[in-house]
Amino acid sequence: MPLLCYSLSAFDGIADEILVTCRPEDKSEISLLISSYPQARTVFGGSTRSESVYFALCEANGDCVLIHDAARPFLTKQTINNCLDSVQAFGSGICAIPASDTIAIAENENIISVPNRDNMFLLQTPQGFLRKKLLIAFEKAQAEGKSFTDESGLYAAYCERPHLCEGDRTNRKLTYPEDFSFAERVGFGIDTHAFGTSDPFITLAGIQIPSHQGLVAHSDGDVLVHALMDALLSAAGLRDIGYYFPDTDERYRNANSIDLLKNVLSRIRESGFVPQNVSISVLAEAPRLSAYIDYMKLSLSKVLALPTFRIGIAAGTNEKLGYVGEGKGITVYCIVLLNKR
Ligand code: MG
Repeated sequence: MPLLCYSLSAFDGIADEILVTCRPEDKSEISLLISSYPQARTVFGGSTRSESVYFALCEANGDCVLIHDAARPFLTKQTINNCLDSVQAFGSGICAIPASDTIAIAENENIISVPNRDNMFLLQTPQGFLRKKLLIAFEKAQAEGKSFTDESGLYAAYCERPHLCEGDRTNRKLTYPEDFSFAERVGFGIDTHAFGTSDPFITLAGIQIPSHQGLVAHSDGDVLVHALMDALLSAAGLRDIGYYFPDTDERYRNANSIDLLKNVLSRIRESGFVPQNVSISVLAEAPRLSAYIDYMKLSLSKVLALPTFRIGIAAGTNEKLGYVGEGKGITVYCIVLLNKR
């Protein structure tokens, strides 16, 4: 769902009309995004936030207006109603939360003062006002050539002290890449193959590694890539590799697992995700893998388009316990993190 639509959904059923300010070149795209909200329409914005809000205000009809940043997609109907109630009771409503960090006033990297945190609030949107009163404030500011970072400052300068109302800590503004961590998805995959062929090597991450026996498989038996593919598919909410590449299908006989991995990655991208990092653990009594780890990482790095420091491969034995310990097979565990593109 496009970010803008989160806010529209929150206002749906509350607002009689929703004006979405946009650039002229974005109008057709935005109009399409908002087409399922009949009360919403676009208005051309200006060169500053303040100008955009003013243009929208001129087009608006209601007595009461709420101004909201579409970069705050997590607002709730509760927050909107808090804002509306405040406008009805006090003439304005500025959603805010008490500051949990101490805030300092600084100049040239020196702290000048540290105001008492008990009096500090972080202002959010929506910010609600009586439309006609706010318009007058805008016109006064324009006449004086003054600009404000948000409407609460404008209202305080030309009308009266704006009234605070209860915001929400989850109503945060998406500004920096790390603000988008909600778009991360984790996935887990596991695979096991048994020793039992006369091949003098096994294939892990596309690298052939000398071995006393090969691994039994319909494909090339790359147990590491199989676990990785299942982790990727799982993180994206897709089915498993047996579903996409059934071993009853002759096309996948002796398949190169790296080719299958490329196919999986294109499915992941189609679902709108890209890998962030992968963590792999190989359990094998033999062969010893430590000399091959860097080659395996490099091989995966090329296919996943990830730097090697985002790929972890650990190799260990099972201390002679169980089927791995008895040297009957190899098991690989894998966790991946995907991010929304
Ligand atoms: Mg397998």
